[in-house]
Amino acid sequence: MSGETTTGGDPQLERELHRVGAELAAAFPSTARHPLRKLDSRAMQLASSDRELRAALFRFVDVVPACRSLEDLARHLTGFLEELPDAPAPIAAAMRIAHTRAGRAALGAAAAGGVRHMAHRFIVGENPKAALTVLRGLWEEGVASSVDLLGEATVTREQAERYAQRCGQALEQLAQAARGWPSRPILESDSSGPLPRANVSVKISALTPLLRPDAPELGREDAAGRLRPLLRQAAALGAHIHIDMESLDSREAVLDLTLELLAEPEFAHGPSAGLVLQAYLRDSPEQLGKIIDWVRSARRTPPLQVRLVKGAYWDHELIQARQHGWPTPVFEVKADCDRNFESLTRTLLAARPSLRVAIASHNLRSVAHAIAANRLAGGEDRDLELQVLRGLGDELQDALAARGFRVRTYCPVGDLVAGMAYLVRRLLENTSNESFLHEQASGTPLEQLLAAP
Ligand SMILES: Cc1cc2nc3c(=O)[nH]c(=O)nc-3n(C[C@H](O)[C@H](O)[C@H](O)COP(=O)(O)OP(=O)(O)OC[C@H]3O[C@@H](n4cnc5c(N)ncnc54)[C@H](O)[C@@H]3O)c2cc1C
Repeated sequence: MSGETTTGGDPQLERELHRVGAELAAAFPSTARHPLRKLDSRAMQLASSDRELRAALFRFVDVVPACRSLEDLARHLTGFLEELPDAPAPIAAAMRIAHTRAGRAALGAAAAGGVRHMAHRFIVGENPKAALTVLRGLWEEGVASSVDLLGEATVTREQAERYAQRCGQALEQLAQAARGWPSRPILESDSSGPLPRANVSVKISALTPLLRPDAPELGREDAAGRLRPLLRQAAALGAHIHIDMESLDSREAVLDLTLELLAEPEFAHGPSAGLVLQAYLRDSPEQLGKIIDWVRSARRTPPLQVRLVKGAYWDHELIQARQHGWPTPVFEVKADCDRNFESLTRTLLAARPSLRVAIASHNLRSVAHAIAANRLAGGEDRDLELQVLRGLGDELQDALAARGFRVRTYCPVGDLVAGMAYLVRRLLENTSNESFLHEQASGTPLEQLLAAP
């Protein structure tokens, strides 16, 4: 990355950013109550410090849904752990009890309980109806939400139909329930106009079994047939639909499909919609250029919302590229990704009011940078949305809401089996030594957390 993308040359921005960051950090509870600490499982702490154990645990969490009994679960767990060259003491003790039938059952029950306990921190309910109490509670505390319907991998047309149906039901139930929520002006409008209370995040890969990089048109057309009715429904209900971004092999199809559909005349004035830009991709500045060209020429209302994230598939993209001998599409140095995130933040802020900006991060520096850059550019706080993930960004969410920022929490809904892939991605991200949450939980001083990348 070139030095041009840092804020090093702008002491005013750095000063404001440190002021905002310190103010937000002051509202955080001590690291003892940090979200990673709250996961409070011995396995999580061990997983952070031991790479091989981490890999074994992730593979284990992946097979949990396929296990038929607790015995089965314990057999898998001990199988993975047996591969460890030097098992830490608590693991070695667990392994010893797994040599009897009763021991295996006890170990299996403990492991299943641990996974379930962890999942409940991230997943707000088994279905949208069950999640409504949590969503209303968040709203009353000044926090908006986006509901993500967790699903199994979509490999058949029936599964895609079912996912589309579940999205439709969620839109309906949320929109109906949200009408009865009390007024929260910060969450309900910005300079561009009203903001929907009901907000659903959708995955294109779940809307079609045909999304393949070698034949993108096929998947695009198939998904369009299910996304179009959802857009119509959201427009009729006054709800927002956000299209999540997944791994790079589906990016072109997802971006093209979203922009093509939103450009159709029937969607010229609704629904409110958004997409995601991943800053870990080296070519993300060009992608953003393409999106900005589109919003300026399409002139649709309400403006498209762009959610800026770093990206959740970093390990996958790196491994995939290395296996094929391709150049890596993602930055390999965390600071390069962070600098790019800040540069994209400033480009997005400058592109308003043609688009709406949402900064999705748990990194205090990235969030404080967005708030400071917005203010120094003359923007109002209400024209910047900050987003966090349920279970990981709870403290940041509360600190932002208490200071009058518009914050939206991404709330996965679904059963534990369907949520396993989601859970694994969150664990992988957050036990990595380069993760901001990991650094924060380890007690890194604030000055270092807020330092320029
Ligand atoms: C509301 C919300 C919605 C989201 N939606 C999506 C989505 O649709 N699609 C999606 O892909 N992700 C999504 N994410 C996840 C997001 O991409 C990040 O993975 C997550 O937020 C962690 O980033 P951070 O800024 O919070 O933390 P940080 O700790 O600052 O950053 C961690 C991230 O940095 C990157 N990284 C880690 N190591 C390196 C390295 N060595 N070199 C370069 N980069 C590295 C990775 O992207 C990693 O996830 C969403 C996040 C939120 C909060």
